[in-house]
Amino acid sequence: MSIVKLNLSTDATPVETQTLLTLVVPVYNEESAIGPFLDATATILEQLAPSLRCEILFINDGSRDGTEFAIRSFMHNNPAIRLVNLSRNFGKEAALCAGLEHARGAAVIPVDVDLQDDVSIIPDMVDKWRQGARIVNARRSDRTSDSWAKRTSARAFYRAFNALSDYPMPSDVGDFRLLDRQVVDVLRSMGERVRLNKALFSWVGFKTEEVTFARNARSRGKTTMNYWRLWGMALDGIIGSTTKPLRIWTYLGTGLGLLSFLYAACIFVSTLLFGVDVPGYASLVLLILTFGGLNLFAIGILGEYIGRILTEVRERPMFVVRSTYGAED
Ligand code: UDP
Ligand code: MG
Repeated sequence: MSIVKLNLSTDATPVETQTLLTLVVPVYNEESAIGPFLDATATILEQLAPSLRCEILFINDGSRDGTEFAIRSFMHNNPAIRLVNLSRNFGKEAALCAGLEHARGAAVIPVDVDLQDDVSIIPDMVDKWRQGARIVNARRSDRTSDSWAKRTSARAFYRAFNALSDYPMPSDVGDFRLLDRQVVDVLRSMGERVRLNKALFSWVGFKTEEVTFARNARSRGKTTMNYWRLWGMALDGIIGSTTKPLRIWTYLGTGLGLLSFLYAACIFVSTLLFGVDVPGYASLVLLILTFGGLNLFAIGILGEYIGRILTEVRERPMFVVRSTYGAED
């Protein structure tokens, strides 16, 4: 394990007295994006010196390409870079948790390596933080870099989430935001394994400010977030934040039960008055299918919760660290 001293100070300000800012960068098969990311951040971080010292904490989320090699080659001439290798691909949410766990900064900013998050707004975020905000959200001013399907599904997700959860999540704000150490420590103390970090960021509270930016297209490589993965994350977010989808079935079941009772009474009376009415195949099949479908749907929702309860009670770690490099104490 190579050990390098963290010292990005370019002037006379002693390193110990400088405030530390950590950029947490989860990476999964991103060998081509590392160089452009470090180029883009270098100028921004220089702007922040001398009052702020920065560490760039890469979380290598089980990449199978040359990502680790690329990061370690840049570490030779940049002591501000740290690397945590996870033992396999755990997904971006777990990688972010690993980042929050290993970050040492007084403020922490999770940022994507593909430059979709515009790093040039970091100084504005830091200004708002210095003025007292504990969280500074970076809101996308538009979603034109997304496909129509992504825009529509994202809008539907935020609507559903905010309708169901008691802790609304600002739409168009991703993981790219500044988190004060106080917030990071609260997040680290939260034991849940099934998590959508964005949802937790809104849950913790604290004084929150906002800056806006236009999200760029990906610099290099291609996204690994397919719709199936996004769907899983959306479910994790909703199920982790609210039990309303469970309660809906209590009300729906009660309502349908009452209607069934009324219908049964109608059939009873009509049978008494007019005898057995043999036709009725269509309505019978319709009722069986409707109630069968509703039952399966309700069981599915229960299953979604039960599966996540199992994940939680197993208490497996959210991620496993294979090795760490750089800036040891
Ligand atoms: N990422 C990760 N683990 C994964 C998938 C993605 O650490 O399993 C990282 C990826 O390298 C990038 C960030 O998460 O830095 C965002 O991923 P991506 O650009 O694919 O997502 P999108 O921007 O399309 O939502
Ligand atoms: Mg991206």
